[in-house]
Amino acid sequence: MTHLRKHLVVVGHGMVGHRFVQAAIERGLTETHDITVIGEERLPAYDRVALTSFFEVGADALSLLPEGSYDDPRVRLLTGIEVTDLDTTARSVTLAGGEVLAYDVCVLATGAAPFVPPVPGHDLPGCFVYRTIDDLEAIREAAATAKVGAVIGGGLLGLEAANALAQLGLETHVVEMAPRLMAVQVDDAGGAMLRRHIEKLGLTIHAGAMTKGVVEADGRAAGLTLADRDEPVPAEVVVFSAGIRPRDALARTAGLEVAERGGVLVDEQCRTSDPHVYAIGECAAPAGKMYGLVAPGYAMAEVVADALLAGPGTFTGADMSTKLKLMGVDVASFGDAFATTPDSLELTYSDAVTGVYKKLVISDDGTRLLGGILVGDASAYGILRPMAASGLPLPANPEELILPASSGSSVDVGLPDEAVICSCNNVTKAEITDRVARDDDPCADAACVTACSKAGATCGSCKPLVKKIVEDWFTSVGRTVDTSMCEHFAMTRAELYDLVAVHGHTRFDDVVAAHGRGRGCEICKPAIASILASLLNHHVLDDDAFALQDTNDRYLANIQKNGSYSVVPRIPGGEVTPEGLIVIGEVARDYGLYTKITGGQRIDLFGARMEDLPAIWTRLVDAGFESGHAYGKSLRTVKSCVGSTWCRFGVQDSTSMAIALELRYRGLRSPHKLKGGVSGCARECAEARGKDFGVIATEKGWNLYVGGNGGAVPAHAQLLASDLDDETLVRYVDRFLMYYIRTADRLQRTSTWVDSLDGGLERVREVVVDDVLSLGSELEAAMARHVGTYFDEWRATLEDPAKLARFTSFVNAPDVPDPHITFDTQRDQIVPATSTGPVLVAASIPVGAPVGGAR
Ligand SMILES: Cc1cc2nc3c(=O)[nH]c(=O)nc-3n(C[C@H](O)[C@H](O)[C@H](O)COP(=O)(O)OP(=O)(O)OC[C@H]3O[C@@H](n4cnc5c(N)ncnc54)[C@H](O)[C@@H]3O)c2cc1C
Ligand code: SF4
Repeated sequence: MTHLRKHLVVVGHGMVGHRFVQAAIERGLTETHDITVIGEERLPAYDRVALTSFFEVGADALSLLPEGSYDDPRVRLLTGIEVTDLDTTARSVTLAGGEVLAYDVCVLATGAAPFVPPVPGHDLPGCFVYRTIDDLEAIREAAATAKVGAVIGGGLLGLEAANALAQLGLETHVVEMAPRLMAVQVDDAGGAMLRRHIEKLGLTIHAGAMTKGVVEADGRAAGLTLADRDEPVPAEVVVFSAGIRPRDALARTAGLEVAERGGVLVDEQCRTSDPHVYAIGECAAPAGKMYGLVAPGYAMAEVVADALLAGPGTFTGADMSTKLKLMGVDVASFGDAFATTPDSLELTYSDAVTGVYKKLVISDDGTRLLGGILVGDASAYGILRPMAASGLPLPANPEELILPASSGSSVDVGLPDEAVICSCNNVTKAEITDRVARDDDPCADAACVTACSKAGATCGSCKPLVKKIVEDWFTSVGRTVDTSMCEHFAMTRAELYDLVAVHGHTRFDDVVAAHGRGRGCEICKPAIASILASLLNHHVLDDDAFALQDTNDRYLANIQKNGSYSVVPRIPGGEVTPEGLIVIGEVARDYGLYTKITGGQRIDLFGARMEDLPAIWTRLVDAGFESGHAYGKSLRTVKSCVGSTWCRFGVQDSTSMAIALELRYRGLRSPHKLKGGVSGCARECAEARGKDFGVIATEKGWNLYVGGNGGAVPAHAQLLASDLDDETLVRYVDRFLMYYIRTADRLQRTSTWVDSLDGGLERVREVVVDDVLSLGSELEAAMARHVGTYFDEWRATLEDPAKLARFTSFVNAPDVPDPHITFDTQRDQIVPATSTGPVLVAASIPVGAPVGGAR
């Protein structure tokens, strides 16, 4: 009965508009409503909170809808279109272009716009705001020909923008009217510490300075004049970040009530003065107050989805806590950070040497935490914020919460069930424990809880606490947190690694006899194979090792859905000669292989029959290629851009570095697959921050990032060390990879491994950069052993008749190819056969003359 369906129009496809549509779909509102969401930006919703990383990761990585549209056909997304009019009487909106859409319910999610003070020259070319991807693209273009930039505003967003200008290579000034930076979040002492950190990074801060105007030269911005200062501040790029104003123009012209200081007035269900129109996010002003953070917007989105389903949800205010990392400096502020509660007491810790300032605001009787400020070390934020929000009694010695010896996440404060652990997604402790305690499909670990409940999925600051709650729950119900690798080995992979190394085992049988029980399984066998391979670098097809391997490792190739294999020649750094390309093309043609360029700068050759693999490898080996690891838990690729060799932006030779790194680490077996990337400048064309180790060139050398990955739970790599020379870079990557290989769990990616360490990235930095465990030379020596003993496994296989004999489909009939492997054709290439359509059977695959193969 489609005529009974209602039409819901959402104006604005930003973070909150998107969250609302997501919630509406998840809660089944599309059973009764068609949804049209209209966004004025050319791109669908993206992560504005992470906007600054656009320069490093690009727009795709920020998208909240990677596939570009909602899957649900009852949802229509229109981008690049402004809604120009809202008519609450006719219940319709008008789009730029004239189209009129009638609605039953309208949700305004139009966000906010940067405030630009009307100083003379504010509209000159070279002046920008910092709000959208388009703004950042324009800033990047202007910065390419500029040397100096200035940001007006030293608040949270201003410092983000200053960070961006500095990243773009500009000498950067920050002009702030208030006497300190981030005046809304931190106090004088915190602001002073923050300023010291930021000045150390080479930025110039002008605090207590009022901008009088923008200086013009040749019709463009050239600097800023400041009140009470004689000399203007030079600036060819000027970014205004002086606050935001809710975008409430549609509501105003439609006659909806707006708050005194702007923003659409809404009630506790986020309903405006017209009952058919709701407003959420930064354009809304619940109880007259506008919120400039994403978490309250998300909460409003959920409340409206609930209201439309006749649910009881209400929005009664939000936690304004913030935690961020500005240019590598932790800053957090939560609860009553400025001690406005009558008679409240302050407990502070300040260390000018390490640049750490921490303040706790506690109740006059010393029993409750009310708020706090953390600068330089915000590791305790995860526990302190929910502690303040839940009114939990303080421990006997509250100073331990901020003294350096304590890491907040390890202090056991026994949060109550109703404590909100993830404020971005409003997930309570009870909801987290419910995920692991439920009878039906319980989560077995914290990663699963994050995936299922969204706790920790937005800013991630609560992840350590989520993990602790999960582990505490397991302990409380008598289920020790089981660290056994499997039923055969009652220890972690890291413990087993040490045992194998210390005892010098070289065979699985010896390992299981000495430290385990039984005969092994599909979990411990490949894990031990990987440990032995990391330590010994022997051939994975040696008799002892062969039986331990997964299928792919057994055949040194990736098995595909119809039983055929893929071959992916290694092309370090993506650099390949025309002759090399011709050989790959000829092999593909002669063996009838499906050919595709991969995202990792290689050429996939699909559809090879197992018995053809040796002949294919021979042709590749003769042409100077390795077959390449495209399977197994080992280094895959080190992707690169063309860097300073060809690119006009490049500041270092990223291709040579990528090739050197790929050749160095090829064949390295690890707990999970590994990828690297090297970009020639901060524009990051190689997407290095989506890799386990990512290297980005700077004017002075290389920045090293670690712990990134794509996949189902993507992670951005984090900065480990800056401006390294070639030698130090390689040394740190050696140490990082070996430390990971030694201590990670099986199948644990570098991102989760970093998170799992006590101290997280800081711990990695202590071990890799500061060498606090004096392990550096040992880790480097282990990597040197790997590099020194590396050999081409495919070539070695071809040279060993015993190993070659395994490449037959049927032991009893070695010359008979497997008849079950069949193909269709699509776009002139083979693809695995489906039940319909033309089928290429085995015999008709064009097969070239194998050279020295086993056929
Ligand atoms: C650089 C930066 C860093 C930030 N960091 C943090 C942080 O660390 N923590 C935090 O909590 N918050 C942060 N924020 C704020 C956060 O991004 C916002 O709170 C959040 O994006 C608000 O979501 P929204 O959907 O209300 O608005 P937006 O995300 O701005 O979306 C509104 C959308 O509506 C569109 N629109 C407006 N009018 C119309 C119209 N008439 N027709 C069609 N479309 C229209 C706009 O173009 C926009 O795309 C940051 C913001 C920026 C810019
Ligand atoms: S050097 Fe590399 S990362 Fe920088 S712009 Fe050129 S291709 Fe992109």
